[in-house]
Amino acid sequence: MMDMQQQVKNLGVEIKNGLVKKINKEENFKIELDNGEMLESKAIIVATGAATKWLGLLNEKELIGHGISGCATCDGMFFRGKTVAVIGGGDTACEEANFLGKICEKVYLIHRREELRASVAEQKKVLNNPKVEIWWNSEVKEVNGKEKLESIKVLNNKTGEEKILLLDGLFVAIGSQPATEFLKGLVDLSETGQVLVGQNKEHVTMTSVEGIFAAGDCVNIKHKQAIVAAGEGCRAALDAEKWLEE
Ligand SMILES: Cc1cc2nc3c(=O)[nH]c(=O)nc-3n(C[C@H](O)[C@H](O)[C@H](O)COP(=O)(O)OP(=O)(O)OC[C@H]3O[C@@H](n4cnc5c(N)ncnc54)[C@H](O)[C@@H]3O)c2cc1C
Repeated sequence: MMDMQQQVKNLGVEIKNGLVKKINKEENFKIELDNGEMLESKAIIVATGAATKWLGLLNEKELIGHGISGCATCDGMFFRGKTVAVIGGGDTACEEANFLGKICEKVYLIHRREELRASVAEQKKVLNNPKVEIWWNSEVKEVNGKEKLESIKVLNNKTGEEKILLLDGLFVAIGSQPATEFLKGLVDLSETGQVLVGQNKEHVTMTSVEGIFAAGDCVNIKHKQAIVAAGEGCRAALDAEKWLEE
C-alpha cells in the first residue's frame, strides 16, 4: 500500500485525507471534506467502494476471516471438500451457493423467506443443484466458535424450531451498501445506491453528470473483485483524461 502511495506521489499526485461530505456542481466541482476543507476540481472519479452487510450477530466480527466470509469467489477455495452455508436469497446468494457447490462437499442455502428473490435462471440452477440444500424460512441467530467458526444456530421462523448446524464456512450474501450517500441528488444512483455508469458510449465510466466518473465496487458492475475495480479505475482515469482534453 505504501509503495502504491509513493508511486502516485512520484507522479505529482497530492493526497488529501478526509471523507467527502458533499459535492456541488458550479463552473467547476466544489468538494467538501468532513474536516471542513473545500477542494475544487474540473473532473472527479468516485471510487468509494461498498460495505458488506453482515448479520450483526455476537462473535461475527471476530470470526470474519476465520470461517465467516463475504465473498465466495475470494475465499471459496479455502473450503474445498468442506461443509458451508450461504445466507441470503437473492442473485448473489444463489450464485455463491452454485459456485461453492463446485468446490465444497455440501452447501446449505439459508433463506428467511419461503421463496427466492433471485432471477428465474439463478433459482433454477440452485434448485437443481444436488450439492445445495435449501433451508426455507430460516434465520441465523448465533454464530459459534472459538478460534474459528464451528456451528450456527438457525431458527425456523414458521415453526419456531431451532437447530444447530455444524459448519466449516459461512458466506454472508445479504447485500452490500455502496458508499455513495454524498452523491444523492447529484448523480443517478440505482435503488440500492450504486452509481449508474455506462450511459455515455464515448466515456463508459461517466455518470449521469458530465465530468463525474465512477469505478469499482460503488458502481453498477457485476463482478466485485479487486482486479476488476483496479481495471475500471484505470478506465475511469483514461476516460477523465480524454474528457478533459475535449
Ligand atoms: C470479505 C471480503 C473479501 C474479499 N476478498 C477478495 C479477494 O480475495 N480478491 C479480490 O479480488 N477481491 C476481494 N474482495 C473484493 C475487493 O475487496 C473489492 O472488490 C475491492 O476492494 C473494491 O475496490 P474499490 O476501490 O472499489 O473499493 P474499496 O477497496 O472499498 O475502497 C474504497 C475506499 O473509499 C473510501 N471512502 C468511502 N467513502 C468515502 C468518502 N465519502 N470520502 C472519501 N473516501 C471514501 C473508503 O474508506 C475506502 O478506502 C473481497 C471483499 C470482501 C468484503
